[in-house]
Amino acid sequence: MNKNIYLKSHITPLLTIAALVCLISTAHAAPCMIVTLTGTQGGPSAYGGLAGAGTLVRYGDDSDGCNAVKLQFDAGRGTSMRLSQIPLLANQLHAIFFTHLHSDHVDGLADLLQIRWHFNSTGPRVDIVCSADVQAKAAAAYTMSCQKLVAHIGDAYIQSGEIAQRSVEDKERLASGPAATANLQTFTPTDDAQVVWSRGDVKVNTIRSTHIAGHASYRVDTPAGSVVIGGDAGNDSPGPPRAFSTSAQVEKLAMGVDIIVHSAIHPVMGPDKDSGFPAPIYHRQSAANDLGAMAQRTGAKHLMLTHLIPPLGARQQGPYKVPGGALAAADYKQAAEAGGFTGNTVVGTDLASVRLPAK
Ligand SMILES: [Zn+2]
Repeated sequence: MNKNIYLKSHITPLLTIAALVCLISTAHAAPCMIVTLTGTQGGPSAYGGLAGAGTLVRYGDDSDGCNAVKLQFDAGRGTSMRLSQIPLLANQLHAIFFTHLHSDHVDGLADLLQIRWHFNSTGPRVDIVCSADVQAKAAAAYTMSCQKLVAHIGDAYIQSGEIAQRSVEDKERLASGPAATANLQTFTPTDDAQVVWSRGDVKVNTIRSTHIAGHASYRVDTPAGSVVIGGDAGNDSPGPPRAFSTSAQVEKLAMGVDIIVHSAIHPVMGPDKDSGFPAPIYHRQSAANDLGAMAQRTGAKHLMLTHLIPPLGARQQGPYKVPGGALAAADYKQAAEAGGFTGNTVVGTDLASVRLPAK
């Protein structure tokens, strides 16, 4: 047999088999995305063991359990504990994004970075994505600074002597402390979406939104689906009269999205009721009924309400009473549906998840 013909006749079937194997494995490894609420507490108070605000977005395919890319949006109190229940380790996160710098959204960062520093000082740094320093327009001059938050995240442990003490125990630990495990990436929020992070097929956009200075909302797009994380966004107009309490920019970002995750305040806490909840604080959040209306306008299939004010079952929101008594999940769902939402409303509890595509 001619050598060339021999090679050809044997290699062609081999290539065909390789192509088939490739095709089969591709067909089995369908892309998937899982969105998980890592904490649903609204505001700095503590109630019923809820973790502070946060959302985990995982993307991958069936072969890796949707676990190839792991992104954390906000990291309130107890985030590492909720991640451990998934289970996920702090050092497995690829990036942490912040909507704003209120403590109920950042309390868990010190813990996450301290764990990384302790066990994975020599590992890759975690991207921390947030707004660049911004000077508040309020009469009192102050600056919201994610850069300083991250740079000083380990200061208490440095001052206590722990960083030096543990560094002596293990020479691989970075002597400068947990901040050194972070790779800060800041951006200036604008009224048009901008890409702030990407990895393979995963793209993260951000847009400016109103709550406090530097607040930003995010959208994650993947081949399996998309999610918008609104944070504590409210309308640019600080109070009535206005068409709705939700953010026009978040709505623009969310057009055609599959899932919206958003902080929600129930209208029962409104200034027209007798909770005593401060009107300006009420008005800088999005009300559950307005979120239902916004979700419907964007065509979203799932609305995940989180950072619930008041929490489910609570008679008080911090010092403020809940008029008419504690709310149940049905009360939030009814509010979203009263706003016109006909999709799937998830009234947030810690670790509630939505998977795309559904199993
Ligand atoms: Zn908040």
